[in-house]
Amino acid sequence: MSQQTAQSVSPSALELDSYRELQAKQQPPWSNLAFVQEIATELAAQPPLVFAGEVDRLRERLASAARGEAFLLQGGDCAETFEAATADKIRDRVKTLLQMAVVLTYGASMPVIKVGRMAGQFAKPRSSETETRDGITLPAYRGDIVNGYDFTPESRAADPSRMLRGYHVSSSTLNLIRAFTQGGFADLRQVHAWNQGFISNTANQRYETLAAEIDRALRFMEACGVESAALNQTEFYVSHEALLLDYERPLARIDSRTGAPYGTSGHMLWIGERTREIDGAHVELLSKLRNPIGVKLGPTATVDDAMRLVEKLDPEREPGRLTFITRMGAEKIRDVLPPLLAGVRDAGATPLWVTDPMHGNGITTANGYKTRRFDDVMNELLGFFEAHREVGTFPGGVHIELTGDDVTECLGGSENIEEATLATRYESLCDPRLNHMQSLELAFLVAEELKKRGQ
Ligand code: PEP
Ligand code: MN
Repeated sequence: MSQQTAQSVSPSALELDSYRELQAKQQPPWSNLAFVQEIATELAAQPPLVFAGEVDRLRERLASAARGEAFLLQGGDCAETFEAATADKIRDRVKTLLQMAVVLTYGASMPVIKVGRMAGQFAKPRSSETETRDGITLPAYRGDIVNGYDFTPESRAADPSRMLRGYHVSSSTLNLIRAFTQGGFADLRQVHAWNQGFISNTANQRYETLAAEIDRALRFMEACGVESAALNQTEFYVSHEALLLDYERPLARIDSRTGAPYGTSGHMLWIGERTREIDGAHVELLSKLRNPIGVKLGPTATVDDAMRLVEKLDPEREPGRLTFITRMGAEKIRDVLPPLLAGVRDAGATPLWVTDPMHGNGITTANGYKTRRFDDVMNELLGFFEAHREVGTFPGGVHIELTGDDVTECLGGSENIEEATLATRYESLCDPRLNHMQSLELAFLVAEELKKRGQ
């Protein structure tokens, strides 16, 4: 393959191609494979987006979460778009995650690891290959890194050059994230001041009490003279579903220092519910990379499925290597999660367990909107904590689809978004996201829960 440059003829690099023999689900129907190869070669020549040292540090952070000493907050769009990768929108998403993190840190009394679904969350698995509107059938939209959302044959054709654009948009997104989180924007006192703005908007007594406690804690820290980079800067990592293998493979690199292969498209990569077959291409490729790996587990996942994934992705049982992101649905979680947690624990594995309370709770309204109820999301979250309490395992984090914008995509919350309101500002091209306010409310409610557990 021409993408194998001098550095990648080492045995490890050749091993990285083993996935090519296996079935890869959810890949685009490319029409010009020579062009795909040309783009892959070009991607392989680009600098890495993330670095081995950062990836290793995140693995250590996640290891502490798996031990019950930290909590993971992972969130962002269902599908990022090229058009929405603007400074304002990126800032507002980062801001939302920082605001949530402060509240959760206080609630959990432990460090919160911040990981965006950002700078690469472009490829989407679809339940159908095609979409039909008014009798016209076209290929399904697979995310901006594959094709366009507009419903025309030109736009829906899979275009390999979008992978290169995806790389560049990820690069500029990451650049801005690094600037925001290192350059003073993330100052704890400022983030808290934003939260106070949120409280005065909701006028909810419940949140006021917690915010007042955080306020006192911050004043105390200031009075003690805590004035370091610890207040002013923060670690922030990026993650996405490693779905599009023609993008992920050229960005997999051999670290010059250690000779180990890393996925350099994002710090943490995850495998979705639809592509987690044990003998599939996705599990194979990610099994070769040193990054922390997430795997989504839906309600049909068995202990056996989970343990095969452990064997394949984390044979050494390395702390922080493997995260199971469960997405069971509010109705099912209390039945299906406890036996899964107990079975995996009894088999000797200690993955990080995180809840995705979004993907098991989708509904379609009578007026045709794909949405989720805030109450169902909260219910699954509470079920997650209950399940861990019952089994004695650690609820290590949350994985949320959210935006910093005031969209109207999910029902409920204290603004009480109703079905009729969804049309006002529904912008997601895929799944509905919690808006800025709903995200903060969720953080306050989870913080209350964490605080209860700590008492
Ligand atoms: C997603 O995270 O957007 C997604 C498609 O999730 P899942 O693989 O859990 O369905
Ligand atoms: Mn989604």
